[in-house]
Amino acid sequence: MDKPSPAKTVSILGIPFENTSRDAFESLLKNRIEHHENTFVVTANPEIVMYARQNRPYMKLIKQADFIVADGIGIIMGAKLLKRPLQERITGYDLFVSLLEWGSQTHKSAYFVGAKTEVINQLKTVVAQKYPGLKIAGTHNGYFGDDRNIVHDIARTHPDMVFVATGYPKQETFIDKNRQATNGLWMGIGGSFDVLTGNVKRAPESWQNKHLEWLYRVIKEPSRLSRLSVLPKYLLAILKDRFSTH
Ligand code: UDP
Repeated sequence: MDKPSPAKTVSILGIPFENTSRDAFESLLKNRIEHHENTFVVTANPEIVMYARQNRPYMKLIKQADFIVADGIGIIMGAKLLKRPLQERITGYDLFVSLLEWGSQTHKSAYFVGAKTEVINQLKTVVAQKYPGLKIAGTHNGYFGDDRNIVHDIARTHPDMVFVATGYPKQETFIDKNRQATNGLWMGIGGSFDVLTGNVKRAPESWQNKHLEWLYRVIKEPSRLSRLSVLPKYLLAILKDRFSTH
């Protein structure tokens, strides 16, 4: 008998994660961008999952997304503990860089919202140098209250991709509210503009391979330590779920 095909999504504490490989997911996104399909992608980690559990409007909003992918190793481990393993970790940063590369080769356009003014200005230079075929439809820093001007500009320039890097929950809230402004890809990608411009260093590959990227970030930025306090609560919630339903 044929092996049953793996589930398309895996539910982690009520949130459906795409169970796919990075390559397959990238191809799917590129295809949707080519066809001008309106697409909202959430790149989630345990912090986002725990925040959504405590904040119903946010939970509702991220469930409206077309795809939620496992950005953090904690999600992959949670899925394993629940005996519903996910194929692969798919980080927002990796998707971002691959899509910029592809966008440069295929002459797509992208709009960038997020980070501090100095960072977004540096980003313009870095993107123009590294991805010369990609059109920068526009940029805006991530410290805004009223978003009307930004949305108006996105609607006017009709980019193929909109990258929003303001951290959660602001980025997903912004996308959910405004995604009708252009039929393209809308993706929240946390601190990715800081990383691409070299203002924040990503962990060396050896650390990433050992699943210690989170530890590297805390060592580099000890102010992030308090954000880790959510992890034991996450683990506990996973274990509760594991033993109540199996
Ligand atoms: N940020 C922003 N607007 C805000 C708050 C934060 O643009 O109102 C930016 C901040 O400058 C940083 C990113 O959002 O570039 C958040 O980075 P963080 O590493 O916290 O994101 P994570 O991926 O961990 O959620």
